[in-house]
Amino acid sequence: MLGMSREQLREIGGHGERTYPRECCGLLLGTCDGQQAWVIEVWPAENAWDESSAVEFERVGDGPTRDWQTQERRYTIAPELMLAAQKTARDRQWRILGIYHSHPNHEAVPSECDRQWAWPEYYYLIVSVRDGVAGESHCWRLDEQGQFREVSLQVD
Ligand SMILES: [Zn+2]
Repeated sequence: MLGMSREQLREIGGHGERTYPRECCGLLLGTCDGQQAWVIEVWPAENAWDESSAVEFERVGDGPTRDWQTQERRYTIAPELMLAAQKTARDRQWRILGIYHSHPNHEAVPSECDRQWAWPEYYYLIVSVRDGVAGESHCWRLDEQGQFREVSLQVD
């Protein structure tokens, strides 16, 4: 279970609407206890995935890599933001719970690319943004087999 406020979810949707048709991404910071986690702060990130690295990625990869590129643009979070989040989490005894990102004109289901790059302990919140308007959100987490399983999202 990942819990967050309606306002936080609106903030994430709003970020996806502003960056549309590009993906948005950001960090979810908060606390957790066993299989339950609660978001305290949402940290929007600049999408560090620029065109030059996209070209590089396409050149390096063959086979599936190319397909992922066509399905979805990648998102990346700048290392400096990650470090700042780690420090804040340490200072306040929070955790970096996970990452959110948007899927422009795509359902809120992780892509194969998302799966390949996912970290086992993180929650992945995906918001679908269709024609510039944020729609449904779903939360995902890797299981022991490295496959995404949906996690219930509790919004209040
Ligand atoms: Zn994705």
